[in-house]
Amino acid sequence: MKVVNSVRDVKDVKEMNGQEHVVILGAGPAGLATGHEICEHGVKVTVVERNDFVGGLCNTNEANGYKFDLGGHRWFTKNEDLNNWFRRLMGEEIVWVERISRIYYDGGYYTYPISILNVIKNAGLPTIMYAGITYLLSALQYSIFNKSINNMKDAYTAQFGHKLYDMFFRRYSEKVWGLPCEKLSADWVSQRSAGLSIWTVIQESLLKTKSDNESLIEEFMYPRDGYVRIPQRMAEDIVDASEGNKIHLESTVTGINYRGPNDFEVIYTDTAGNESSTDATSVVSTIPLGVLPRILNPGAPQEVIDAAKSLSFRDLITVNIVLKKERVSIDTWLYVQDEDILFGRLHEPKNWSKAMVPDQSTTSLVLECFCTRGDHIWNMTDEEIGKRCAEDLEHKLGFIKADEVIDFQCVRSLQAYPVYDLDYGDNIKVINDFLAGFEGLHIVGRGGTHRYNNADHSIEMGLLLGRKILGYDVDYMDVNTEPEYHEIKTSKDLKRDHYKVEEEA
Ligand SMILES: Cc1cc2nc3c(=O)[nH]c(=O)nc-3n(C[C@H](O)[C@H](O)[C@H](O)COP(=O)(O)OP(=O)(O)OC[C@H]3O[C@@H](n4cnc5c(N)ncnc54)[C@H](O)[C@@H]3O)c2cc1C
Repeated sequence: MKVVNSVRDVKDVKEMNGQEHVVILGAGPAGLATGHEICEHGVKVTVVERNDFVGGLCNTNEANGYKFDLGGHRWFTKNEDLNNWFRRLMGEEIVWVERISRIYYDGGYYTYPISILNVIKNAGLPTIMYAGITYLLSALQYSIFNKSINNMKDAYTAQFGHKLYDMFFRRYSEKVWGLPCEKLSADWVSQRSAGLSIWTVIQESLLKTKSDNESLIEEFMYPRDGYVRIPQRMAEDIVDASEGNKIHLESTVTGINYRGPNDFEVIYTDTAGNESSTDATSVVSTIPLGVLPRILNPGAPQEVIDAAKSLSFRDLITVNIVLKKERVSIDTWLYVQDEDILFGRLHEPKNWSKAMVPDQSTTSLVLECFCTRGDHIWNMTDEEIGKRCAEDLEHKLGFIKADEVIDFQCVRSLQAYPVYDLDYGDNIKVINDFLAGFEGLHIVGRGGTHRYNNADHSIEMGLLLGRKILGYDVDYMDVNTEPEYHEIKTSKDLKRDHYKVEEEA
């Protein structure tokens, strides 16, 4: 048995010599990572993408030299091996960003991650004492009397007590998801904040002990010219690896014919309605899991179609604003809880990288409005959204004056957040059981697996899937399943190595 330590350290992986043709559905980070991994070993890669750009949700829009991510995207992973891969990919393009995040709640600003001292300062000692009592009650109910955790509300309450849940998690979660926390699965909480204990918060804020072993993340890496440079760099390498490798943009995958094991025909349609097709030995799907069974031939039974239709997404409108002022705030992100403010989060691109604005005497903001296609926010015109956001910034947050707005654009993104409703796990299982019958068809990525991945998770899954296609025995679906708090880095994490796989001698 041989141990391979790193994706890029693989020296003697099987060379495929062009006998394989892998067709990748979707040019987001996950699909491109798989393509990036396999094309170096002689595998022919075709990527089919419905947008006119690569990057999926990791896109960066540009207008008059101002660059706007689709909501602030940071690079962060606890996996040092993946960080090394990232450094190799991005080289000199990496900048380090200091992380300063705050929550706006009922007219006050609270540091995020939550600090007890800051809560006392803003909300007062009675509130923190009340929060302490509700925490103790929760500890009694959930830890001693084993009260069951059935939904997101239970999960947060068990971890923080009712008062802190109500202050810092309920309203923001309901704004993001458009559903009451009682109707959302507890899985999201366990994936995002399982390792966060009230004791970590107290230790961080009261004792200010930042040992080498455990500390909240205060710095992260970012590509100087916007997050889209990560998928763009992967796409550049794929196309450079072989003339045979293609990335078809503005091409929507509309059908997949399965002729037998590792024998597929993928059909895609361009914006003019012209149909093309290509044969594939393997298909890597990053298109929404709820769509895939509906375009497969042979078709899925009704039970699978029903499960597929039940998987839903939350959509997103980002509002990119250019301002005639030098700086709005020092925040990396500001989370806005209040329901009467249209957006739920904002960031100032200049605080991430100076290269995001062409004129340093000006600045810009990206506001994230969580919505669902067809709801009251989605149905507002761009003009109405821009005007309302500028008013909220001026009158509710006091951040700008109306005459400082030079320009704004709204960017509408569908399928931004896979919803974890109470049935999503059962529905995914029904679909995955059906897909297991298609040998050579792989699902990966955020929408592709209906898993709340960050970009690093999608890339890690994609790279590992690449290795699986190259013949290694890896469980790429294992990524982003561990219950952990993403904001804490421990010395243990630094040693974690997802790429350690054993190879037949
Ligand atoms: C507001 C916001 C903030 C975020 N912040 C961060 C952050 O700070 N850090 C971080 O790491 N991650 C962040 N993320 C998450 C990150 O954007 C995603 O994890 C990542 O983009 C997922 O990559 P993916 O390839 O799995 O999916 P996607 O990016 O969704 O890519 C899927 C691709 O498939 C294409 N596609 C779909 N259907 C078809 C079809 N029928 N035919 C052809 N193509 C199709 C889509 O157009 C898309 O390009 C954030 C996401 C959002 C929405």
